[in-house]
Amino acid sequence: MAATGRGLSYGQSVAEAGLAAGTELTQLLLAAAQRLAESIDPERVYDSFHQLLDEVVPHDGVVVSSFDSDDELIHCEYAWVEGARIDESTLPPLPLNREGGGMQSRVIISGEPLLENDVAERVQQPGGTYYNVDSEGRVAKIPDSGPARTSAAMMVPLKHAGAVVGVVQLMRDHGLYTERDLELFSALVGLMHAAVRNARLQIERAHLEAIAAVERARADEREQAANVLALVGDGIMLVDPEGVIVFSNRAADAVTGVELRGRQATEVFEEWQSVEALPIATDVGATRSTTLPVSVNDRELWLSFVAVESSEGVVYAFRDLTSERRFDEEKRDFVATISHELRTPMTGVYGAAQTLLRTDVELSATQRFDLLRLIAVQAERLSQIVDDLLLATSLDHHRLQISHEEVDVGRLVQRTLEVLARTDVEMTMSDAPRVLGDPDRIQQILVNLLDNAFKYGRPPVSVSVAVAGDVLAVAVRDAGPGIPSDEQERIFERFYRSDPKQARAPGGTGLGLYIARELAERMGGRLEARSIPSGGAEFVLTLPCA
Ligand code: ADP
Repeated sequence: MAATGRGLSYGQSVAEAGLAAGTELTQLLLAAAQRLAESIDPERVYDSFHQLLDEVVPHDGVVVSSFDSDDELIHCEYAWVEGARIDESTLPPLPLNREGGGMQSRVIISGEPLLENDVAERVQQPGGTYYNVDSEGRVAKIPDSGPARTSAAMMVPLKHAGAVVGVVQLMRDHGLYTERDLELFSALVGLMHAAVRNARLQIERAHLEAIAAVERARADEREQAANVLALVGDGIMLVDPEGVIVFSNRAADAVTGVELRGRQATEVFEEWQSVEALPIATDVGATRSTTLPVSVNDRELWLSFVAVESSEGVVYAFRDLTSERRFDEEKRDFVATISHELRTPMTGVYGAAQTLLRTDVELSATQRFDLLRLIAVQAERLSQIVDDLLLATSLDHHRLQISHEEVDVGRLVQRTLEVLARTDVEMTMSDAPRVLGDPDRIQQILVNLLDNAFKYGRPPVSVSVAVAGDVLAVAVRDAGPGIPSDEQERIFERFYRSDPKQARAPGGTGLGLYIARELAERMGGRLEARSIPSGGAEFVLTLPCA
């Protein structure tokens, strides 16, 4: 008998057709295996299986069930009864009957196929339970609803790795099944089971591939996000609930000058409590930035922070506003100093001019002279302020010409004291080497330091010149109040005056020391301030020896 595709030349049953030769059975099964393997959808495999059965074993119902050994429930996977496919999801799962009752349960427990040609009689026996499913999918327990219409049934276990994982049952309302029917049914069930497992594996593989693809996409996205974060100008760091910085971008490390990742936030930022106390937004759209001073490695930074909650901790984005802050402070100092410094001489000039213009007052020649001298002095002061401003601007724009020539500093100090008519300044000189620099600029620095020593300090004022290694140090000392340690750097900032309202000192622009230090540095030297323990200030100008 030829087994060709769907047209397997089989009759009503294997027994009736008289399948005798094993070779024919082999051919039949080969064709069946081919047909079952065509689909990778378990539903379609069941359909093909049923079509194959239709052609070779007469039946009125076929039910494929799976068995879960964990909860011992039998679930229907596929059901076809009396000419109609039934939605298996409407059938309730059945519990395994360990008391030896139900036929399915018996097959599941024994793992052996079962052929029953007297179903009606069997279900009447105590403990025998048979569920009949009609074409509407109604499930009925046979002993409760009268005699079964089923005359014969075959059940074959589905096994995986030696364990029963399901049962396939075939029922007919009339006639009997033979051992040969069971043999053929078992063989087809085996093929069907292999095909279903294969289909499921394919689905599983496709599923795993999809998961892997999603993972890959996520990893790509993460990498892209990390690349973007690396390029963002703002510092970004993620701080976990234990306070550890688990992520930081390049800008965050650059702003703080610290490789942040893996460090405890409290170790890096001295004022971490104030950062932690910032409001944490739960929504990126509702963030608010706060500018805070924080010290990192003894450097004061002004950072504008935004904090956003994330599943792994708190994300902090920060921008470095230190230079803007410095600029703001300079602006404030500038306005405070310059407005006062301009107003003072202007008021003097204005007052003197007004007096000279009065016609109702008779002024003596001396009075007129004094007023005119006052105007001249104040005008010079005004032009001095403007000169300082212009000089500072030239220095800022690197437009100032500075010569580099050999200078005898000892003589220069002496000349300067003479020009200033300062006989009250003590000068000591241990060596007299020459330095490389611009004599006019060195003198300008000396004039500023001596001027300050008398303006802000107290006599005695002294100047010492000494060699220290390959530099010459010129120190100007006074016996005044000195300079508080937290101002020893600030006094070199533009427009900074420790007492801008000049309550204790006469006029100044706050530019003198800024210009002096800039000039010293342009000549390859330095200018530092310190307070002397015995009281007073000391400014040390160092210049490279020639
Ligand atoms: P100005 O003299 O125009 O104010 P400077 O830049 O020369 O500007 O000085 C800046 C500030 O430094 C002064 O306002 C003063 O507060 C402080 N200072 C400078 N020299 C001394 C000194 N010898 N003793 C104490 N304070 C000083």
